Amino acid sequence: MRRYDLNGRGRLGSITGPRMCTGCGGTTEVVVMTPRGFLKSICRPCLKEFSLTHDEFLEGDAFQAIECPECAGALTPSISFLEQGNYLLACDACRHYLRLADLLPYVASLR
Ligand SMILES: [Zn+2]
Ligand SMILES: [Zn+2]
Repeated sequence: MRRYDLNGRGRLGSITGPRMCTGCGGTTEVVVMTPRGFLKSICRPCLKEFSLTHDEFLEGDAFQAIECPECAGALTPSISFLEQGNYLLACDACRHYLRLADLLPYVASLR
């Protein structure tokens, strides 16, 4: 498996996170918090931040809307320790993976 080269292709819009906001009960968005790729769910109206557990990532359906940019197939989520604990989405057919942090917007871009 190699890391897929996004090659200047833009980031996606943010995606709805697996967690509801404890403040307003609304939906949250998954965004990138740090250059190393740390992800959190945030509620924009409340400016609240929520950590995501590994299970929420691996078992939730929030990330299933993202498809392989090459073959449009489904991606398998995993956690890579080679990539500093980053969440990865792998395409078995294309033999590559994407770092979720490379696809989602930085938190600063939403403020
Ligand atoms: Zn809220
Ligand atoms: Zn693919």
